[in-house]
Amino acid sequence: MKVGFIGLGNMGAPMAANLAKAGHLVTGFDIAAPCPEGVTPAASAPEAAAGQNVVITMLPNGDILRAVAAEIIPAMERSAVFLDCSTVDVDSARAVAREAEAAGLLPLDAPVSGGVGGAQAGTLTFMAGGSDEGFARVEPLLDVMGQKAVHCGASGAGQAAKICNNMILGVTMIATCEAFALADKLGLDRRKMYDVVSTSSGYSWTMNAYTPAPGIGAKSPADNDYQPGFSAELMLKDLRLSQQAAQAVDADTPMGEAATALYERFVEHEGGRGKDFSAMLPRFERRGRG
Ligand code: NAD
Repeated sequence: MKVGFIGLGNMGAPMAANLAKAGHLVTGFDIAAPCPEGVTPAASAPEAAAGQNVVITMLPNGDILRAVAAEIIPAMERSAVFLDCSTVDVDSARAVAREAEAAGLLPLDAPVSGGVGGAQAGTLTFMAGGSDEGFARVEPLLDVMGQKAVHCGASGAGQAAKICNNMILGVTMIATCEAFALADKLGLDRRKMYDVVSTSSGYSWTMNAYTPAPGIGAKSPADNDYQPGFSAELMLKDLRLSQQAAQAVDADTPMGEAATALYERFVEHEGGRGKDFSAMLPRFERRGRG
């Protein structure tokens, strides 16, 4: 397929490179980052978008997505697919989809889970919102970039699934870290704690697959001085999106709210910026109840 790829950062560059490696004709554009190997550089976003079967965006936030969409929608071929893989607020996803649809395009919001490692290895999970036809058209591309793609429903459903998943992830990471720090203070060996919890009802992805304690359980950023991985800032971004969405639909999410407040404090006042989101564990180690 002919693919335009806009936003070639930590995630976009390896995703675009994997598509090119699989034999697709990929043209890329980014305001700052260089094109990865195999991707033909374009001089602007509209140039990257013109004449393509599918245009993929992988951008930092909803405002930037809206701005790029306004530039590229008029340049795109009618009935092309506009596949946005960024994590953005549900309102921006739906607004961009409405504009794309009005221009005769097939919009899909398809944020990803799996991080930079998943993008490089082509093992991302996609959660998509949009039409059946649009989803079917991009499935061969999703198969290259990921290991699983779930069509969650209409426009916005992909972003809804993403923020619900990541709200669970943020809350669970905090629960896992505070339990490790409590175990320390109770004199319980971390390895024993891991052996019990990872095979008991407290098990979770954060405990079993992303263990936040160095040298214990799954290999994770904790074993590399908490270099991200998935940064605390990105977790805070997703938690804020979850709370923005909860507010918009009057959903009661007290644990999500508490997790947002904790990550906000961690990133803005407690040295969490630039650290993996599992660095909550040393944060809890340092603190008492006050
Ligand atoms: P990044 O900052 O590394 O990449 C974003 C890229 O967009 C940058 O290279 C930037 O120059 C480019 N850009 C910004 N404005 C642009 C414009 N107007 N035109 C063209 N390019 C523009 O971020 P990332 O880590 O690649 O994340 C991208 C998206 O994926 C975000 O929405 C993020 O929340 C989501 N995401 C990231 C991860 C992760 O682990 N990094 C995991 C899942 C989802």
